[in-house]
Amino acid sequence: MSFSLESITAVVRERWGFPALRPFQERAIEVALRQRDALLVLATGGGKSLCYQVPPLLTGRLTVVISPLKALMNDQVAALELLGYPAAAIHSDHSFEESGEVRRRVERGELKLLYITPERLALDGFQQWLERVRPSVIAVDEAHCISQWGHDFRPEYRRIGELRERWPSIAIHAYTATATPRVRADIIQQLRLREPEQLIGSFDRPNLTYRVVPRGDLAAQIAPVLRRHAGQAGIVYCLSRRDTESLAEKLQSRGIDCQAYHAGLPAERRARIETAFREERLDVVVATVAFGMGIDRSDVRCVLHASLPESIEHYMQETGRAGRDGMPAECVLFYSAGDYMRRRYLLERGAEAEEANLRARLHLLGKMRDFCATQICRHLALSAYFGQAYERENCSACDVCLDTSKPLEGGSELGQTILRTVLELRSNFGAAYLADVLRGSKRQAIVERRHELISSHGALARYEKPVVGDLIQQLIEQKLLERTDDEYPVVRLTREGIAALQEDAPIVLREPRLARVDPPAPARGRGSRADGLPETEYDGGAFESLRQLRLEIAREMGVPAYIVFEDSTLKEMARQLPQSAQELLEVRGVGTKKLERFGPRFLVRLRSLARDESTTPPDAQSPGA
Ligand code: ADP
Repeated sequence: MSFSLESITAVVRERWGFPALRPFQERAIEVALRQRDALLVLATGGGKSLCYQVPPLLTGRLTVVISPLKALMNDQVAALELLGYPAAAIHSDHSFEESGEVRRRVERGELKLLYITPERLALDGFQQWLERVRPSVIAVDEAHCISQWGHDFRPEYRRIGELRERWPSIAIHAYTATATPRVRADIIQQLRLREPEQLIGSFDRPNLTYRVVPRGDLAAQIAPVLRRHAGQAGIVYCLSRRDTESLAEKLQSRGIDCQAYHAGLPAERRARIETAFREERLDVVVATVAFGMGIDRSDVRCVLHASLPESIEHYMQETGRAGRDGMPAECVLFYSAGDYMRRRYLLERGAEAEEANLRARLHLLGKMRDFCATQICRHLALSAYFGQAYERENCSACDVCLDTSKPLEGGSELGQTILRTVLELRSNFGAAYLADVLRGSKRQAIVERRHELISSHGALARYEKPVVGDLIQQLIEQKLLERTDDEYPVVRLTREGIAALQEDAPIVLREPRLARVDPPAPARGRGSRADGLPETEYDGGAFESLRQLRLEIAREMGVPAYIVFEDSTLKEMARQLPQSAQELLEVRGVGTKKLERFGPRFLVRLRSLARDESTTPPDAQSPGA
């Protein structure tokens, strides 16, 4: 079957109200329609779901989507239903009768998209049934779960590869947002893809501002960031259950309306928090990584990490929940050197991890620590990690590129002193010990080893320990020192460090980052975009009013608000104030079904907003966002 680009675009315009496909989507849909195997990698928010949702509408044949996240499936099905798209899900929350009814709809050819979990697929009877109804494509979402080099290994994903043996003619399409070249190779092998088309889109998230900040008084650091996003959604990720509770409490006492969330809470309480967040009755959740799986609110404006994530893939996945709607959002990671050991300890203690998997996970953790330590552009570092070039010289959307810190006076001398001390300690001690010697500590271990006698003992006594730690870290980042990867990491001189000492080369140290622990707001307004695009001007009051209406409708229907219309659609409405059905249909994100369903109520509101505007003097209008 062949379809012209016009016919594909017409379907997308009519159903989804998007004027055009993104270039990656065009290629992906075209590949899907050719019944070839494919691996598609695209950053979160890039628009992957459309790639498997559009083809069945054109071919009329069933696609089965395998996804690990029940909540996400439910949201997608609810969103598709609003578009008049025949889709359903089968998973363990459904009763026998409910899934029986879905099966019958599939058998009658009524459904074009069926979401299932990998666990369901593992049931033998289910595979036989599937064989009978003959879908034309299996779309594997979150395909990195099949690889233990990925960040979310799920053994049951391995069963998907069996389908290929059982059923050679079916096309398998694997989708993921985060896959290094190694994970991509693993996906292809495990799923037994046949000469797959590989479409690798950009990993970069230009609308996110990334910052890594040394951790001090966490609640005092986090509260101002959340305040700058008051009334907007934010997630704070913590390492442990206990951390979520104590941080949530401290933030509450600072007047921030938030809830702690972790897997140890009773299921009912968790469900209540999830629903409140989805329905916009709760904006800030302080959580372990248990939160977010399948929570698809597209207007999350900040994702904060209270400690080191487990891998760069995790970090991308978690920060990926910010700004899915393409609008600016910020991500701040509060990091302290001890996080690495704590994480490492947790991984090693996790007895269920088999040896090879543990080694893989420690390797990924090390990469995450390196990312925090690096002083190159974060957008560039993340792209490079996933094997991609990053073209811009200055992203204007990360702490490194936005850094305005000044060089530290006398920094060169300090740098030389630190290097010399490492030499005198024979590159044999950790950063904490080194800092103690430099600060002139006379603790027993130091005296016993006679290290209080070396010439630089106490040379940095005027600085606080975290400041000395920061200066050591800067020398590591400049590759004059390095930290070993052993069980007890030591700091040692690199070849460059030895040369710098021998030649008494000038060293530039910057003001310790600890002096500026509260991350300032991103340079341009609330968020800056690495693609340099300004957020389009819109009337903030009108947007709020439309948001309220959306919330009313969503509550009546019991669906997440963004499913009714996304923020970007409401903002465009607020900017254009369309006054007729025809004009409303021009707004991106308004298709014919939603026009039918929500158009009348939105038009009443839009008309009243337009009347208010024409009677308000221009200088009294509320400013753009
Ligand atoms: P992913 O699954 O890759 O994370 P989604 O499929 O959830 O991404 O899409 C992300 C966002 O992009 C959503 O807000 C969606 O409405 C929007 N979107 C997707 N395709 C288009 C398009 N062709 N034009 C405009 N917006 C789009």
